[in-house]
Amino acid sequence: MVKLHKSPLPVGVTIKSGLDYRKEPVFSIIKDDCNNKCYICEEKGTTSMHVEHRVSQSFDPSRKYDWNNLLLSCGHCNRVKGSRYNTILDCTRVDPEAYISLRIAIGLYERVTVIKIGERDGVDETIRLLDTVYNGESTAILKYECKNLRAHVLAEVQTFQQLLDGYFEENDTALKEAFQRKISESISRASNFASFKRGIIKNNDTLFALFKDTL
Ligand SMILES: [Zn+2]
Repeated sequence: MVKLHKSPLPVGVTIKSGLDYRKEPVFSIIKDDCNNKCYICEEKGTTSMHVEHRVSQSFDPSRKYDWNNLLLSCGHCNRVKGSRYNTILDCTRVDPEAYISLRIAIGLYERVTVIKIGERDGVDETIRLLDTVYNGESTAILKYECKNLRAHVLAEVQTFQQLLDGYFEENDTALKEAFQRKISESISRASNFASFKRGIIKNNDTLFALFKDTL
């Protein structure tokens, strides 16, 4: 989970029903503010798009049409979260990366490690949500969805690792700069599974010194 910018609603646009946030221009603003990514698992370009109520409708009906409560999620995360997690970090106001770090080791059998690195209300619940989103196995469907999701994370991280290796092995200045540009794009908050790649940079002194300005 990364920090997101929530744009203001255009003048004259109001949300009074679920249909209002499923149609234009509202849905596109939600999608673009979330960088076309699920705000929970950070998969980009998901084919299953939901307008997710960060604070669930059943927990606080007054937030049902609250613009600041509406974010983009995938179907998997929308189902996992449901109305069970209502005090998770508000990623439009605080930076989740200051409190939570995500790691995955090489190997499809590996689980995602969700590490607490800062204390704040909502951190523990967000960690429980992320752990279930990536590692849940309370039902067969959840287990296989999580396994598929981890495979997508792993593929992204392995491609990123190849970029890093390419950068360090390259001697040609122009090609090295091309690797540097690709790495910088790949660690933007808007990128696919950004938290994992940004975590790799932050947790290595050499990489952090090289790329901290583009984090
Ligand atoms: Zn998701």
